[in-house]
Amino acid sequence: MGGLREHGHTSVRLLGTGPALVTAFPDVPPPKVDPTGSEPYRADELSAAALSPEAFALKQRTYAAHVLFASSQRPFVASLPKASTALVADTRFRMRVDAATAATNLLAEAKSARDAAALLDEDAADTTFIGITSAYRSADAQFARWDELFGKYFEAYRTQVLQSPAASPLAVDQKQLARFIGRRLAAPGYSLHQTGVAIDFKTIQSGQRYSAGNGTGWRTTWMYGWLQRNAVGIGFRQLKGEPWHWDFQS
Ligand SMILES: [Zn+2]
Repeated sequence: MGGLREHGHTSVRLLGTGPALVTAFPDVPPPKVDPTGSEPYRADELSAAALSPEAFALKQRTYAAHVLFASSQRPFVASLPKASTALVADTRFRMRVDAATAATNLLAEAKSARDAAALLDEDAADTTFIGITSAYRSADAQFARWDELFGKYFEAYRTQVLQSPAASPLAVDQKQLARFIGRRLAAPGYSLHQTGVAIDFKTIQSGQRYSAGNGTGWRTTWMYGWLQRNAVGIGFRQLKGEPWHWDFQS
């Protein structure tokens, strides 16, 4: 893809490997990375792979429509520097450093409370897993995901909404398609998970797995009851309508 060379700073951001890539392209001037990250990814940074010219044009229009809508909801947030994030203990998930500490404490407290309650409380005894299904997601990763998943969502949109699996890309309204995708995937740079304070909890109770999704079931879990009683004291607040999603408020 010739674009990588022409847009040196783009290739660095997309691949997320920092300065190493600059030396890989010695003829490219040093990247001008905006430290405040105020610049969303552009539609011309998307990949045309496996798409007809019409479908690629639709991909770009849809992306632009999605970003336009997302930017009316909240500001763009670029990927955090690695030093600003830390692993939540005993997980493979990162959060902003202060949020990671709080989440580590929260999970430890929830597990001790579960162990202490297990003798008398069947729900606590049946809670075999307390953990995370998602936390910090970088804007870079989200852009790569959007780029990769567009084809799949376009197909789903044609089948489910248009009920015409072979419908021409020229016949598709990009705003409708952007809305369809937006219900499944945040626009890159606009997810609540990109500031490093959001966490999606996961629990397993009586063999049933509760992660992101299924709000009704989630609210019946021992873990949710515990979160409701204790998470605010540790600095977390629930996102309305998503019992698994909590944000750390410093
Ligand atoms: Zn979430």
